[in-house]
Amino acid sequence: MIHDHHEGYISWADYQSNQAVIAHNANRVGAMVRGSVKCGGALLSGLLRCGHCGSKLSTQYPAPGVIRYQCAARVLNHEQSCCVTFGGLRVDRMVAEQVLRCLRPHAIGAAIEAIENVQGASDERVHQKALALEQARYEVDRAQRRYDVVDPAQRLVAAELERRWNEALKVQAQIEQDLAALKTERPTSVTAATKAELLALAEDLPCLWDHPGSSPQIKKRLLRTVLKDIIATSEDNAIRLVLHWQGGDHTELRFEKNRTGKHRYVMDTDTIELIRSLARIQPDSMIASILNRMGRHTPHGQTWTAVRVCATRNNHAIAVYREGERQTRGELNVSEVAAILSVTQTTVLRMIRLRRMPATQACVNAPWVSAVSRSDVPMFTYGDGCGGYALRINCCSIIDEGRARAAQTTRSWGSAPDRALAVRQLSGM
Ligand SMILES: [Zn+2]
Repeated sequence: MIHDHHEGYISWADYQSNQAVIAHNANRVGAMVRGSVKCGGALLSGLLRCGHCGSKLSTQYPAPGVIRYQCAARVLNHEQSCCVTFGGLRVDRMVAEQVLRCLRPHAIGAAIEAIENVQGASDERVHQKALALEQARYEVDRAQRRYDVVDPAQRLVAAELERRWNEALKVQAQIEQDLAALKTERPTSVTAATKAELLALAEDLPCLWDHPGSSPQIKKRLLRTVLKDIIATSEDNAIRLVLHWQGGDHTELRFEKNRTGKHRYVMDTDTIELIRSLARIQPDSMIASILNRMGRHTPHGQTWTAVRVCATRNNHAIAVYREGERQTRGELNVSEVAAILSVTQTTVLRMIRLRRMPATQACVNAPWVSAVSRSDVPMFTYGDGCGGYALRINCCSIIDEGRARAAQTTRSWGSAPDRALAVRQLSGM
């Protein structure tokens, strides 16, 4: 074969690349080739090979949104032990990050080339149209010369030559219009600011990759453009991946295998312990409400409901809240303490905030619970500003006296702000 003997429609390199893609798309060849790009979500499908037996890794979708890669030797022969198998989501993400990191300089180069191409394509079209106009003018000139030399007595010949001259003039006028339109539509030269913007977009290649409009097929084609194959080897508790790049270089990645029962849908221990604490003071519906107010979600990203709290409790052997069990343990909530002290719940909350009443709260938005017995509650007061009385002496009378003094001062003082100030001073808040 003699290369470059004739000018081809495509370059020799493009031809070779197309032939390689066509050869790899031949699915009937089986494990010998990567196989065609299909519409599944597994990005490394066809690229992975087993580092133990050399087989291709088959791609499985055991559930919606779940990807698993497994050595095909095990799939074909169930009696053979599995060489290597691992979940696909994490691996896809790792390889994609590696590829995007390597592609970033190329993306910038492609952006610069695109800028130059846009400018060059416009210039080329104007040049072609100008050449066409020159040819049209020549045709008009020739038609005119032919008409001029004809004998006017030859009326039929003269009419035909006149018609051809008019046709040539029409063509010339049309090309002149087209050229003027092209020059009008011609994009203005790319400014430095536009260049900088395009280069910034090239830096955002990861955003483009994660865009909902980027289909798995496009990503797979991109991966196959830069990667020859990936060798996966199982080593104790880890998987080693060797990425073979098209240029001949290779990169090694390594990640820990998932332990049994550990996957992305496992609930974090913090949430489980929180539900365990809340289940002793609240029913499931209230627990769901508290968790939602905290902005917590289930491992599947859903909001909490009583049913989901119930399921979580059952999965972790947490007993359901029974009405009255808190009272059995001798715990009081804010409303019960307020009733004993004959004050509002706001006052009790303020006492708790000022650490004058011992109480606990499982989390933000959860109810406060005090372990103080009913008989001891009157020993706590909400302030020590009522004439300097001791804290633990007959709280109720202190409160009553404080109220009476506040009311007396309020009557003597005029405006509302003054009354509020007096009440605050007398109650020590
Ligand atoms: Zn294998």
